[in-house]
Amino acid sequence: MKTILTNKHISIEMRKRALQCYIEPVLMYGCEAWTISKQIQNKLEATEMWFLRRMLQIPWTAKKTNERVLYEANKRKSLVRTIRKCQATFLGLVMRRGKLEHLATTGKFEGKRSRGRQREKIMDGLSTWLGPGKVSDILAAGKAEHIVISGHDGGTGASSWTGIKNAGLPWELGISETHQVLTLNNLRSRVVLQADGQIRTGRDVVIAALLGADEFGFSTAPLITLGCIMMRKCHLNTCPVGVATQDPVLRQKFAGKPEYVVNYLFLLAEEVRALMAEMGFRTVQEMIGRTDKLQFHPVAGNNKAELLDFSRITLNALEMRPNTNIKGGSVEQNFELEKRLDYKVMELAKDVLDGKSRNVKIELPICNVDRTFGATLSNLISKRTAEEGLPPKSIEISLKGSGGQSFCAFLAKGVSVRLEGDANDYVCKCLSGGEVVVTPPANMAPSFKSEDNIVVGNVCLYGATSGRAFFRGQAAERFCVRNSGATAVVEGCGDHGCEYMTGGRAVILGLTGRNFAAGMSGGIAYVYDKQKLFKPRVNKESVDLLSVETKEDLDFLHGLLSDFVAETGSTLAQFILSNWETEQKNFVKVFPTEYQRALAEAAAEHEALEKEQPQTEILVNGIANGDIYENGTDDLLEPPSEGLQRASSLSNVYGEDMINKLEDEDWYEGSAGKIVDNQKVNDKGIGDIEDAIRNTTQENKVLDAVLDKSRGFVNYKRATYQYRDGSVRQKDWKEIYNHKRVKEGLRVQAARCMDCGVPFCSSDHGCPLSNLIPKWNNLVFKNEWKLALDYLHQTNNFPEFTGRVCPAPCEGACVLGINTPAVTIKNIENAIIDHGFEHGWVRPLVPKVRSGKKVAVIGSGPAGLAAAAQLNKAGHLVTVYERNDEVGGLLRYGIPTMKLDKRVVARRVDILEREGISFKTNIEVGKDLAAKTIMDENDAVVCALGATWPRDLPIPGREFTGIHYAMNFLESWQKQQQGNSNPYISAKDKDVIVIGGGDTGCDCIATSLRHGAKSITTFEILPQPPATRADSNPWPTWPRIFRVDYGHEEVKLKWGRDPRVFNVKSLYFEGDANGNVTGVKTILVQWSKDDAGRWTMKDVEGSEKTYKCDLVLLAMGFLGPERSIVEELSVGLDPRGNLETPRSKYNTSIPNLYAAGDCRRGQSLVVWAIHEGRQCAKQVDKDLMGSTSLAGPGGIVTA
Ligand SMILES: Cc1cc2nc3c(=O)[nH]c(=O)nc-3n(C[C@H](O)[C@H](O)[C@H](O)COP(=O)(O)OP(=O)(O)OC[C@H]3O[C@@H](n4cnc5c(N)ncnc54)[C@H](O)[C@@H]3O)c2cc1C
Ligand code: SF4
Ligand code: SF4
Repeated sequence: MKTILTNKHISIEMRKRALQCYIEPVLMYGCEAWTISKQIQNKLEATEMWFLRRMLQIPWTAKKTNERVLYEANKRKSLVRTIRKCQATFLGLVMRRGKLEHLATTGKFEGKRSRGRQREKIMDGLSTWLGPGKVSDILAAGKAEHIVISGHDGGTGASSWTGIKNAGLPWELGISETHQVLTLNNLRSRVVLQADGQIRTGRDVVIAALLGADEFGFSTAPLITLGCIMMRKCHLNTCPVGVATQDPVLRQKFAGKPEYVVNYLFLLAEEVRALMAEMGFRTVQEMIGRTDKLQFHPVAGNNKAELLDFSRITLNALEMRPNTNIKGGSVEQNFELEKRLDYKVMELAKDVLDGKSRNVKIELPICNVDRTFGATLSNLISKRTAEEGLPPKSIEISLKGSGGQSFCAFLAKGVSVRLEGDANDYVCKCLSGGEVVVTPPANMAPSFKSEDNIVVGNVCLYGATSGRAFFRGQAAERFCVRNSGATAVVEGCGDHGCEYMTGGRAVILGLTGRNFAAGMSGGIAYVYDKQKLFKPRVNKESVDLLSVETKEDLDFLHGLLSDFVAETGSTLAQFILSNWETEQKNFVKVFPTEYQRALAEAAAEHEALEKEQPQTEILVNGIANGDIYENGTDDLLEPPSEGLQRASSLSNVYGEDMINKLEDEDWYEGSAGKIVDNQKVNDKGIGDIEDAIRNTTQENKVLDAVLDKSRGFVNYKRATYQYRDGSVRQKDWKEIYNHKRVKEGLRVQAARCMDCGVPFCSSDHGCPLSNLIPKWNNLVFKNEWKLALDYLHQTNNFPEFTGRVCPAPCEGACVLGINTPAVTIKNIENAIIDHGFEHGWVRPLVPKVRSGKKVAVIGSGPAGLAAAAQLNKAGHLVTVYERNDEVGGLLRYGIPTMKLDKRVVARRVDILEREGISFKTNIEVGKDLAAKTIMDENDAVVCALGATWPRDLPIPGREFTGIHYAMNFLESWQKQQQGNSNPYISAKDKDVIVIGGGDTGCDCIATSLRHGAKSITTFEILPQPPATRADSNPWPTWPRIFRVDYGHEEVKLKWGRDPRVFNVKSLYFEGDANGNVTGVKTILVQWSKDDAGRWTMKDVEGSEKTYKCDLVLLAMGFLGPERSIVEELSVGLDPRGNLETPRSKYNTSIPNLYAAGDCRRGQSLVVWAIHEGRQCAKQVDKDLMGSTSLAGPGGIVTA
């Protein structure tokens, strides 16, 4: 069972106002309440959301306004701006019956807004699991007014995948059961029932209402309208689209608008209205519980579905108890609040609360039915004094007995409570400035040892923000969990102490349980570890364990323990103080690494500020009076320097591009965070950090200390040094990549990966192989190369090919690409595999068992090689037939050496051969050897023929000499480079025209340049793409933008201009008397859309031009596979002329004949060819063996 906003009605006023500031404007749009997820509520409590406070403080204090004025101001002046600022708390909204009705029936958002409500409703949330109806019944009887039924769907933010996938049941079950049980017990009218959990459409709303819901919670859908991409980083403060983050840098990336939510709600309401009209309902209330309008439609032919019995779910509750009032919330609950102990205290402290007296001392008994003692009193104080509270010890309360649940929750400043006895769970939950002392009864036997006994229960100081708590005795589990600012002393605690603590101080004078400090990111814990048992119990993922040595620490501890002894009489603390010199050494300081770094940054920033600015200009609390809204800059929303937030990004210290910056700036040495100056680096004659620490443990130590992966994408720039210098590389045929430099900066680049909850880089728009990108990015970041290689090989047989030549659709889909340059995924992939080869980790793996089946693969391009590798892995005997003299397809004779060194191809082919694959070259199947023979000799045949039939340009003059297909040009030259003596087409001293602006064209440019061409021009018939994505080309689709590829850059460096001409149509070729081409006559074209929205091309009159040339290269793509095999076997072709297979299958029209790669999908990419080869092999294996253990996309084996 989870609770949402428990005791919201008694939360301190500050928090309430903080929420209102954000909620109210949205109410204007017709929504009456917001739901806050538990995680964010925790965060709110834990971190205090400093910016919320800032926003509230300014109008409140500077403008002497009140809450109402604040609301009005926000409403009128800056509604949109306020909503924009509320992005961090935009977690969900709730549509109420009335509002929905109003919206659905009138199409208007306004309507009555319930303002000035005296108190919030008591609200409980239930995850749909087993028996929510009964629990709701108890809750309603127990005075709940509002029950949320949360379904199993949904869960964004911090929810674990296991939770999202496996927890709970559909809300439909929960709502129907709850509605029925409440009606049966005549409690339905007392509570409002809310359905929650991935409600997105009007249909969802109507179903929920028909099953019995009054309210409908939305979160995911409105968040998505605002730009949420389901990164699931809400809990880490690193939301890359600025939705759920308090980081000012990231918040600037927020591109949502309130209008988007409004629009969504309009559409939703319209759908609801239409459905209501269809069913004949005029009001939403009429719909509630009308299960007769729901019918069960089992999926035809699904035997399992037909067995399901929905009759209990669709039972109309009013049939069980006719004439019952089912109008949720129409009957008020009576809480008998006046009987609470708090009211007695408020009565006794009336004079102090009214400002008539300064102090009151109250003595009362308490027992464990007095729950949440102190919270109502605190609510009253905060209403009158806001966050400021009362002067210290204004209200002193002495209690005797047993405190109930949540004793002193939210206790406000100025209230101090002493309890002689003990207390239940959640003592000091959300402590907000108050002081609490709990000691055992004074009359305990002298032999009673408080340090051996539990005096307070579980989860004490949960989400405490300020104040002080002294417990003489032990606390149970989860002590100080999510404490963000309070100081507490206890004599021991159970498991999970200080979990997720973000601030404050905890002193534990005895043993702790296990998992201490898990997820602790701020604050400090001091643990007295006399028995030396503490260290193994600590979760050291985020903390360092240090000895307590500094004067500051020792003075703090001594002072606090003295107070503790004075308040509680603790004999244990007294013993420590009496033997301070020896006992101080038994303290262990638990210091979160993040916190250390934040403090170091804050100190550095403070120092820098002091140097830069005259003292008088230093701002109070980091904020200049009154200017927070006026200048509209979020910079001013920086956290206070003493805060736990990252006061400034690492970039302030290290710069954005760490490697470059480190050359001129200080850098950290070792994890202790000691700053070493640049001089030291230079003294060693070191130019950059990588040189300083090359290949050594030192390198990793330094990088470990400085790299920050959680904000890597903010702190570090995408590297731009992946290529060698263009003017140098164009003079040789070596690979264009700067492998060394890339590898040096790789961990920094890997740190940019956010490890997205939904990694779009591997989605349908991203890597076709579904490479496990975040996984290996993270492993490279952690310097675990071997493991990274293992992960890479799970999905990709040849990362050395894709790492070099893939255009990286993964990067086009990378989440970072929404508003910043994407992660350099391709470089990381390439570095991993090259590192593997360098270290001898890539070796032939010969299958231990052979299946006895024979498979032939025709074509040895990436598709054929991938299919062969996988089939061989499955134990089949594989023979690859290749018509060329070398294996590799376009990898060998297509893609130039500058992009892919042929030794890289040969190295892999050698491994494949040693794994047992047989390669037969110089055999063109269908010509040199009948395809039928191969079919007869093998159990299966895979065609991986490529799409090598080039597209021609049949315009006048095509017959002139000097006009070639690009592939003939590239292939003949590459064969020459391999030592083949065949003649090749040379571009030396020629005016070269390349017709076709794609990758093949670019390879022709780069090759011609290296041949020594006189000039190079490329024609592209299409218009120049835009510099940034067009509206019709949104993320995460492949960005169709203007790119400068390596060949273009090289030409520009040589001749000062990009070789491309856009919107050019070739009319005819011109030639001389010898039949040699001498030029191309062209005309410009204009593109526009016709009435049907189709692009049409029109010649631009008078724009004819002749381009002089002696070599024309046709690079206009390919039409499909060549026909020899197709014709011999009569294989079916698809309308585009490729080998036809069923959708997502690889079998052709001929039994046992399969197709993969370009011959199946048309001219494409190496990565797609590998994908197809792998998946085709999987199907072949399954067809041959009945099942397969070869992996599907993403390396997943489905059998
Ligand atoms: C110039 C050029 C540059 C390119 N650059 C890139 C790039 O940078 N990045 C990228 O991702 N993609 C690039 N591509 C595309 C990529 O090379 C192809 O998509 C990929 O190679 C297709 O692989 P495949 O195995 O299906 O076919 P191919 O690589 O075309 O291999 C087919 C093989 O089958 C052989 N074959 C055909 N018929 C027969 C037969 N009857 N008998 C025996 N053998 C036969 C052919 O000789 C060839 O070796 C480029 C393509 C070209 C033309
Ligand atoms: S194969 Fe291509 S798309 Fe896939 S991860 Fe590598 S570079 Fe990206
Ligand atoms: S590489 Fe993938 S996981 Fe990493 S930031 Fe980009 S989309 Fe996210």
